[in-house]
Amino acid sequence: MAKDLSHIIHVDMDAFFASVEILDRPELRGKPVIVGGGAERGVVCSASYEARGRGVRSAMPVAHARRVCPEAVLLPVRRGRYEEVSRLVHAVFYRYTPRVEPVSIDEAFCDVSGCFRLFGHPKDIAQAMRREIFSETGCAASAGVGPSKLAAKMASEAAKPGGVVYVGPEEVEDFLAPLPVSRLWGVGKATQERLAALGVRTVAQLRDYPLEALAAKFGKQGALLYEFSRGIDTRPVVTEHETKSIGNEETFSRDILDIGEAKNRLLRLSDKVARRLRRNGLKARCVCLKVKYADFVQITRNVTLEEATWDGAVVYSACLGLLEKTEVGARPARLLGVSGAQLEDGSLGRQGRFFEDTREAARREQVNRAMDSIRDRFGEKSILPAALTQDKEG
Ligand SMILES: [Mg+2]
Repeated sequence: MAKDLSHIIHVDMDAFFASVEILDRPELRGKPVIVGGGAERGVVCSASYEARGRGVRSAMPVAHARRVCPEAVLLPVRRGRYEEVSRLVHAVFYRYTPRVEPVSIDEAFCDVSGCFRLFGHPKDIAQAMRREIFSETGCAASAGVGPSKLAAKMASEAAKPGGVVYVGPEEVEDFLAPLPVSRLWGVGKATQERLAALGVRTVAQLRDYPLEALAAKFGKQGALLYEFSRGIDTRPVVTEHETKSIGNEETFSRDILDIGEAKNRLLRLSDKVARRLRRNGLKARCVCLKVKYADFVQITRNVTLEEATWDGAVVYSACLGLLEKTEVGARPARLLGVSGAQLEDGSLGRQGRFFEDTREAARREQVNRAMDSIRDRFGEKSILPAALTQDKEG
């Protein structure tokens, strides 16, 4: 098995809410059970497989479900209880990999690319996860294993209920071909209808459309449809850790109109954010600028960096680029904010691509470390941030 291949497992609990209810009331086992109604705006949130067998579907109005399956037991949603079980389920994932992306209360992607030395083939890992989930919660899960999130997700659907489907890297195209396009990521009712109007019902049929035609018809989504239909999906598994952000903002005692003053504030904010990143051992891949104008209209602009950073000068220069996409300087601002998102473990930083890059990066690291230790001892205002020095030169 090649090392650079991605192995992603998508785990999805089977009829989760209904399963938890049956677990807590064993006398309901084997009966059609519907969870929903009440505060959930009168729709079915979850249905046991017995209820599904009689035509009950998720998101169906409860009144309709009662007509198609009058003998079903209807229970209210007990979210707190499902969250309890969900925590046990998610704990199982982290035994195998730290790279877990929770999608919802009963679903997650687990990137096990680096794990098979330790735990065996990804398919065996998926089986082990299912076994442990069942023995520890009493609820059944299905799992799909594939080289991408798309393949894994579609494999887990095919595995339901209570199974594992493995789709190898060379099998993805064949696996997807006969499936209805509605199963593809982001294909909702509207897209599905527009595709049907073109005579496209299956993934294989979608492949007959050239990229240009799809782009002309569906814009940005067209390119995704083109790629997904071929099983191309490069989206990484994003852990919870990475989706959080670290930010600082400042509301001014009087509105700012002067661009120079705005830049000065951003400089300080960038420096604060970078320092907090370093303290937490995190680097940000995404820098976000927030502006609230005097009339309380709020906008945000963000940029993804080529390399994650915890350097205030890099954060500041990203902010300067973003500032040009705002009306700051022409329209009075009452608040500015800077944040770093898509956080990564700072110790895992990539090497600079060239020697010069590496040397410059090492120099900046040294400056930041020295600055941090002085400020740790003598307070935040004891030393001028490196970024401020640079700004004076420029
Ligand atoms: Mg589910």
